[in-house]
Formats: sequence, structure tokens, C-alpha cells
Amino acid sequence: MRFIVTDELGRFSRWLRILGFDTVLEKNRPNLVIRSLREERIILTRDSKLSRFTGIGIVKIDSDFVEEQLEQLIRKLNLEIDRNNLFSICVLCNEPLERAEKDSVKDEVPHCVFKIQENFMRCPKCKKIYWRGTHWALVNKFLDRISK
Ligand SMILES: [Zn+2]
Repeated sequence: MRFIVTDELGRFSRWLRILGFDTVLEKNRPNLVIRSLREERIILTRDSKLSRFTGIGIVKIDSDFVEEQLEQLIRKLNLEIDRNNLFSICVLCNEPLERAEKDSVKDEVPHCVFKIQENFMRCPKCKKIYWRGTHWALVNKFLDRISK
């Protein structure tokens, strides 16, 4: 499932990427519907005027808080989160991450991280390096909390 979000949901869009969902931000309202249809993305918005559109996939998000936003989306769309997909997409660019050889990231990650981590991923666009560190553990805790 892929999403397109309006600009007031920027923070939420980063969370959706962390959870492995291809998510783009669209600031331009006229483009929003066209792009959602062309790219087969469900629109997520806080804008109640927009959510009156019918015939397109649109979810009006009710809360301002990420945790409640995610709970609503999971309920509404019967969304399944595959924990194997966590951090598979760059949080900043929405690009699928690529596996990076450990040796190739030596100078790009903190020494303490290099020592204890074996698996690294890299964004092909912004070159940011990802690994299963503290963020990964926090996201898992977050998912435990909302799946209760
Ligand atoms: Zn990136």
C-alpha cells in the first residue's frame, strides 16, 4: 500500500516510511488527486474539505499525534505492518535502501556503531547509512504499544 500525504502530515509521512510504506508528500493541492490516481496512492490528509472528495482513496486523519494517527490508519485500512520491512525505505527521500558492505561504511558511521553492528543499509540518493540501532528498538516498542 502506497500513500500520498498533504503537507501538514510531514512528520507522519516519515513514520510511514520508517514502517516500510512508500509515502510521498504533496504540497500542491491540484496535483494531489491527479498524482494519487496516477501513482495509485491513498491520500492521507487532515483537511476536512479535501476528504469530501468521493471516488478516490482518501483517509481524513483525525488526530494531531503520530501514535493516534497510526492507530487510526491501521484500523481504517486494516493495515498490516511487516516488521521485516522496518527501515527499508529512506526516511528523508522515500528511496528503497540498498545493502551496504560493512567495510564500505567504516568512515561514515560512529566507531562504536561499526564495532557492534554487522548489517548496514544505504540510501542510493542521499547516501545516509542505516543500521538496526536504538531507533529500530524504539520503533519496535512503539509497535508493541499500539498493537495491544
Ligand atoms: Zn535518502
